[in-house]
Amino acid sequence: MKEEGVIMDDMNELINYCKQNGFIYQGSEIYGGLANTWDYGPLGAKLKNNLKDAWRQHFINENKNAFELDAGILMHPRVWEASGHVNGFQDPLVDCKECKMRYRVDNLINEFDPNANADAMSEEEMMKYIKEKHVTCPHCKASNFTDIREFNLMFKTERGVTKDKTIDIYLRPENAQGEYVNFLNVLRTTRSKLPFAIGQVGKAFRNEVTPGNFTFRTIEFEQMEFQNFCKPGTDLELYEKYKKIAWDFYARIGIDVSKLRYHDHEKLVFYAKAACDIEYKFPFGWGELNGTHDRTDYDLTKHQEYSGQSMLYTDPVTNEKYIPYIVESTVGLDRAVLCTLVDGYTVEPLEDGSTREILKIHPYLAPYKVAVLPLMKKNHSELSNEVFDMLSKKFSTSFDESGNIGKRYRRQDAIGTPFCVTIDDETINNNTVTVRDRDTMKQDIVKLDELVDYLTKKIEF
Ligand code: ATP
Repeated sequence: MKEEGVIMDDMNELINYCKQNGFIYQGSEIYGGLANTWDYGPLGAKLKNNLKDAWRQHFINENKNAFELDAGILMHPRVWEASGHVNGFQDPLVDCKECKMRYRVDNLINEFDPNANADAMSEEEMMKYIKEKHVTCPHCKASNFTDIREFNLMFKTERGVTKDKTIDIYLRPENAQGEYVNFLNVLRTTRSKLPFAIGQVGKAFRNEVTPGNFTFRTIEFEQMEFQNFCKPGTDLELYEKYKKIAWDFYARIGIDVSKLRYHDHEKLVFYAKAACDIEYKFPFGWGELNGTHDRTDYDLTKHQEYSGQSMLYTDPVTNEKYIPYIVESTVGLDRAVLCTLVDGYTVEPLEDGSTREILKIHPYLAPYKVAVLPLMKKNHSELSNEVFDMLSKKFSTSFDESGNIGKRYRRQDAIGTPFCVTIDDETINNNTVTVRDRDTMKQDIVKLDELVDYLTKKIEF
């Protein structure tokens, strides 16, 4: 994988496209920006929300035994002691002594040789590799690094009424602990039996020091977490099932599956039984989108130990008691947005030798599902407004009456609107509209009173 700090030319093109069209802006731009922060603009916010809805549909709504939670970002500090984050949530880093660039050691090695498999190396092995192979700094090409230093990724803040009476609390670095500490609550209030799952969409914060390749690695991001609680012994079957469910999610939202791959972890954390990522081939290299992990009974055992609250589950049929195993599958929302944009952004050659910019994404994800375009402002605006009122009750609808119709089609193509509805004299005289398809550019004549049904079928997820 390329060092994540190196943004390829085509990433720059995408960054520019996102900025010009209102998908993503640099965070705090008027102050010169804050590294690794980005703001979602009007179209980006819609795309992000549509991805959340798609995830909800795929992971939660279509599963009888899955429930969504909205837990707090700030949690009792003991949570992070129990989870191991206070002592163990760190990245091994080295600095280039010549140009002072800082790198995550595993990324540095994988960039140097994509076949090196740094993920499977211990820290000592990574340091030995750097020295023996004379790994060079991607920035200044020197081979002169500091020893590995550990850097805790959690953002710490203080809570308290007076300055000298405060406690340290943390911005959560992952959502999962919210699900774990509510396991007993959800079990009781939903009257569930194992296996069942708790999912959550929410912000997480990590003090990432390596540069981020646009929104791939940011210090504030959203995760769509899914935690299965199950009987020990049934975990590996669930693990395989969720590896596939996660893969199917990306296929279902229209990502080109030939650019996806599974990456099984060779080096497992001591409590885990199995772990696998789904990666996408970004312009800067393969990057993780999702992680599926068999976490055994580690998390609930730890919370039992630190909170003193029993996490034992009693099987209602056999009366057997055990601490449930957890199989998680987490989708990174910001990386799903990025992957959707990278995958969908296309500059297409046309027959007349010109090109068109088009965002070929699943209609369900499109920020606007449909655009209403009066052919002539003077004659068709009034009826177009009525059509807008009708459609906007059902779909996210755009309205554009400026410029010639060809230019307006192009503008909608560029932001991924799958259908344009043109209102003209035929609409006034015959109650029909022209519906133009973004991808094929073909036009259908549709009766006004059948338009909502026509579009609903085409947009289905
Ligand atoms: P990485 O190896 O890239 O640092 P990770 O293995 O630490 O990721 P997890 O802790 O498994 O990631 O988090 C689950 C998901 O959250 C990841 O698959 C990714 O999609 C997303 N994610 C993690 N860190 C970031 C980040 N800094 N910015 C954006 N998304 C992130």
